[in-house]
Amino acid sequence: MTSTPALSAPSAGAPFDATTIERRELGEHDVLIDIKFCGICHSDIHQVKNEWGGSIFPMVPGHEIAGVVAAVGDGVSSHSVGDRVGVGCLVDSCGECEYCAAGEEQFCVKSAVPTYNGREYDGELTYGGYSQQVVVKDRFVVRIPDGLELQDAAPLLCAGITTYTPLKHWKVGEGTKVAIVGMGGLGHVGVQIAAAMGAEVTVLSQTLSKQEDGLRFGAKHYYATSDKSTFKQLASSFDLILNTVSANLDINAYLGLLRVDGTLVTVGAPSKPDSFRAFALIGGRRSLAGSAIGGLPDTQAMLDFCAEHGVTPAIELIGADEVSEAYDRVERSAVRYRFVIDVSTIGAPGA
Ligand code: NAP
Ligand code: ZN
Repeated sequence: MTSTPALSAPSAGAPFDATTIERRELGEHDVLIDIKFCGICHSDIHQVKNEWGGSIFPMVPGHEIAGVVAAVGDGVSSHSVGDRVGVGCLVDSCGECEYCAAGEEQFCVKSAVPTYNGREYDGELTYGGYSQQVVVKDRFVVRIPDGLELQDAAPLLCAGITTYTPLKHWKVGEGTKVAIVGMGGLGHVGVQIAAAMGAEVTVLSQTLSKQEDGLRFGAKHYYATSDKSTFKQLASSFDLILNTVSANLDINAYLGLLRVDGTLVTVGAPSKPDSFRAFALIGGRRSLAGSAIGGLPDTQAMLDFCAEHGVTPAIELIGADEVSEAYDRVERSAVRYRFVIDVSTIGAPGA
């Protein structure tokens, strides 16, 4: 066992304690990673506050992990000491079911093991990336390409894969009209990826305060959803709408923005149910869909794609003592656009 400094939430919504946690002995197929950076995803906040229910405490969040390999087990051939690597939302899956075989471990029939707020198949609690070291099965460790800085790669491990997967699945490309709803952590990466895939991208944000940034990220158009004329103006416009909003939306209003056969894909995960009218779908043979993170082959492909196309998250690097304030700002939509923790500050004086 290895002890490592970590930020741990003792109970729902309580402030983080700087503490130490134990990581397991290196198994044959394990990789020990010195974590350098970890992004703050809105899912961390939902779970630390137990907004989805079922949270397990103490909790060490963090599933946007970027670091360097410190040691590998005897059976590991895919990663070597010194490699720059990442870990996203999953750390294990059965490896045998049809979804694992297809590289879509997020749908594993045995339920994939989440990076934190979950249990390994042997019952051990999982602890995430707000810590300085982690031990992860080699299959769940991805390579960070040379073209990406470690701190920029971190948010891609969740925000990147969660937006890349549906854009790829619904075959976004040259000429596709895509709207991204919400330009936060996921949204600002989604805009860049969709634009790099060749789509004509529109941002639908609460206000126009981030318009300049949206256009710089590759959007062609930018509208405020607080202006109700937006919904009239954009009626039946989009092939695909990617909803990245953490709160409930008026789903009917957004369905009305789809062309015939268009799809509204929800990746945002509010705790309360959404509702929609059947006629909002029937009228235009529209679809309402969801999408969950992405599998390991796609995660590697996404990182390579981002390095090749210059997709770079806009980050604000913070120390361990700034995490609570960062959570407040994410909740107020005042993030530009992803907070990333410099994990070397965990356990340092003042943290
Ligand atoms: P975030 O940084 O807080 O971004 C969400 C954005 O939604 C905000 O920046 C804001 O954008 C908009 N928004 C917030 N409240 C709103 C409201 N009341 N009405 C309208 N728009 C609002 O969060 P994130 O880290 O990108 O995560 C977004 C959601 O995706 C969370 O619920 C998270 O749990 C979920 N998620 C899902 C998956 C998955 O696999 N499906 C993976 C990761 C995260 P504007 O200021 O531009 O309006
Ligand atoms: Zn996430």
